Amino acid sequence: MSTIRATLYNEFVHERKHESVRNVYPDGIHQAIAAFLRQQPDIEVQTATLDQPEHGLTDEVLAKTDVLLWWGHMAHDDVQDAIVERVHLRVLEGMGLIVLHSGHYSKIFKRLMGTNCGLVWREANEKERLWVANPNHPIADGIDRFFEIPQTEMYGEYFDIPTPDELIFISWFEGGNVFRSGCTWRRGRGRIFYFRPGHETLPIYYQPEVQRVIINGVRWAAQLSNTTVTGITNTPNVIEPLEPITR
Ligand code: ZN
Repeated sequence: MSTIRATLYNEFVHERKHESVRNVYPDGIHQAIAAFLRQQPDIEVQTATLDQPEHGLTDEVLAKTDVLLWWGHMAHDDVQDAIVERVHLRVLEGMGLIVLHSGHYSKIFKRLMGTNCGLVWREANEKERLWVANPNHPIADGIDRFFEIPQTEMYGEYFDIPTPDELIFISWFEGGNVFRSGCTWRRGRGRIFYFRPGHETLPIYYQPEVQRVIINGVRWAAQLSNTTVTGITNTPNVIEPLEPITR
């Protein structure tokens, strides 16, 4: 079995500023997610945070990353454009990217989507029911017709994204809103998965169904034989044809 090299970026700002967040994720959201990923025999995980040099996303780290997971919220603007550029290129080269929850407004997600990525939202601790809209998709493996999150922040349509290549989950919320909660796209050679659940003050990343989907997403987004290929920006003029050209 080949090992998937996952890197988990968390801005790690809420947990340091707000006790209500620290109570739920004492070591940071990234450590909570890394903990269940590390229990998988085929996934190895390293973490990266905003305050590290180059946000922990150096050329060396990204070159050895098959799938990057992204959690950010209040510090999207603090991510350096040069790092966004670097991550963008790696996605085009074939690195998988999983964008979680409020990462919808991250620079890298907006860059890859080419749209505003806005949505409507409400913090009322309401119930969410996520319906599986694509039951044969590997990301939905092990999930029944639907699962519920008992208390969550609402995200609703209109979600300003390009039409997804695949729609995996559709959410219904107690307050009546609906949302495209699990979507995939391809950009260049890379696979991208957006997954909505996860709010910093609620224990959503401890829920087994949410963990299962993220694990499935890592396996789906990894293209192990293909993520080391680099140099897609080379566009040589191939003057010598493979066959003689007669006209
Ligand atoms: Zn949130």
